[in-house]
Amino acid sequence: MTTPHIHLLASGGTISSHHDGSDWHNLTGADLLTRLDESPTNVTVSDVAAGPSSSLSVDDMVAIADEVVAVLASGADGVVVTHGTDTIELTAYVTELRLGTTAGPVVFTGSMRVDSHPEPDGPTNLRHAIAVASSPQARQRGPLICLNGEIHTARQATKVDTTTLDAFVSIPAPISGTISTDDPTFHSTPSRPAGRAHDMRSDVVLISAYPGMTAGHLHAASAGAAGLVLEGFGDINVPANLWGTLLELTEAGTIIVLASRPFTPTFRLDGLGLPTVRGAGGLSAQKARLALMAALGTGDHLAQTMELLDELLDPHESGRE
Ligand code: ASP
Repeated sequence: MTTPHIHLLASGGTISSHHDGSDWHNLTGADLLTRLDESPTNVTVSDVAAGPSSSLSVDDMVAIADEVVAVLASGADGVVVTHGTDTIELTAYVTELRLGTTAGPVVFTGSMRVDSHPEPDGPTNLRHAIAVASSPQARQRGPLICLNGEIHTARQATKVDTTTLDAFVSIPAPISGTISTDDPTFHSTPSRPAGRAHDMRSDVVLISAYPGMTAGHLHAASAGAAGLVLEGFGDINVPANLWGTLLELTEAGTIIVLASRPFTPTFRLDGLGLPTVRGAGGLSAQKARLALMAALGTGDHLAQTMELLDELLDPHESGRE
């Protein structure tokens, strides 16, 4: 068997942060490869971004995703993206929106400790990510996130802790796989094929409902938006006093996705009789916004927008792998 050709795309984050005693520096992808015990001969490298991932715009994420697409089209067998952990699952999900789930493997990784930490986690995470990207088992799963020996899907990964190496969970499922030496073990079946996004429309607002939120607040924050994601409570329950405003917004043409603070796979809300309101189907509010941006990016035909939105949000029964 020939050794797969892996391309490393570096995009900044803590894994690339190095303090030399007086100043901070951003390491390039080539620098990151020198941190590995054995320099891999099958890995090519380029840089797509630098700095903290909390500063990335959706356009920046699309640019990273499109670079992944280009690298695969030019013949790489797999791609590793080093990325800040603050928004890693969002860029991984944007990559899934652009690429679908059948190409790859594409494996995102990062670190919780900076490169200059006495015991950095970046080198092990990078070695694992290269191994996962080299594995035939990692195909057909969409972009993956590999950190701390765990493998998560882009759809389910969520950063839940900033203080530990064990910073990510897969919501609501068990993690997709694990890696401790050089061979990943997957516990889940490959992903279903997902719809593809061509453009991402930016005028989609995301609002978190809070106790006592007034209709005036909701209206002011969402007026004029093409799309609204409202993160409610429980099983996408939003305060009853907001329903009138939601109705007004849909009548004015705003497409609404109701997300939830805890996991809930609720998707169709036909009972409400509002044809352009959906439940987020288990996606986090942040990812539901990206899905709605992609659906609205299909253009002015409402039927096409709703078709892609339904495909992206539909949890396919339980949303669990
Ligand atoms: N602030 C960092 C970022 O760029 C955090 C990290 O990479 O872990 O997301």
